[in-house]
Amino acid sequence: MSISDHLAQIHSRIRATAEKAGRDPDAIRLVAVSKTRPAADISAAFHAGQTVFGENYIQELVQKLADVPEAVQWHVIGHLQSNKVKYIAGRVALIHSVDRISLAREIDRQWGQLGAVCDILIQVNISGEASKSGTTEEGALQLVRECALLPNVRVRGLMTMPPIFDDPEAARPYFAELRRLAETIAAEGIAGVEMTELSMGMSGDFEAAIQEGATLVRVGTAIFGER
Ligand SMILES: *Cc1c(COP(=O)(O)O)cnc(C)c1O
Repeated sequence: MSISDHLAQIHSRIRATAEKAGRDPDAIRLVAVSKTRPAADISAAFHAGQTVFGENYIQELVQKLADVPEAVQWHVIGHLQSNKVKYIAGRVALIHSVDRISLAREIDRQWGQLGAVCDILIQVNISGEASKSGTTEEGALQLVRECALLPNVRVRGLMTMPPIFDDPEAARPYFAELRRLAETIAAEGIAGVEMTELSMGMSGDFEAAIQEGATLVRVGTAIFGER
């Protein structure tokens, strides 16, 4: 099957799952995770109607900014080092992986130099696994409060990566917990903070994530094949 066929299949699964869950399918955006895939695959997906692409590695993203001629929208979804922020300033629409105030401050500084505002999500390590990035659940509210004070950063919601399970049902409690955390933070009514986006769900478990409230699903393998 082609990239275009895979995309059509994912969209119909998103639609069916949303409808079953009583949600508006248009409230769920598909982020095509294109890490390790060549620029030609991104162009092919774009011409099949896919506009948002997620990348993990900044060096690779910068190369693709140069190599992909189409007007795609880029999201950063992987661990981000503060000293790399300058390479992507003003060039990405959303950073999913903000997990510490030092990183948020550098994003604020770099976007500020452009007179622009960067949309960010706070990455939360719900499972508490040492191998995963993300702020602790307990630390998330404090981080959101600190980010809210930065004029060139806008918090739009939360992101998580649950442990990898064979059974997507095993990831569901982590998705539900992220949603509860977003509701708790939203209830604080922090000025300038939105909790409208929940970035959760990948190839193996995006349907469970949608049932639990995902607004952004990050799907790589199911679109582009095995890496
Ligand atoms: C690679 C990656 C994905 C996509 O994973 P697939 O299983 O290929 O769909 C999603 N989110 C993050 C943060 C990733 O690093």
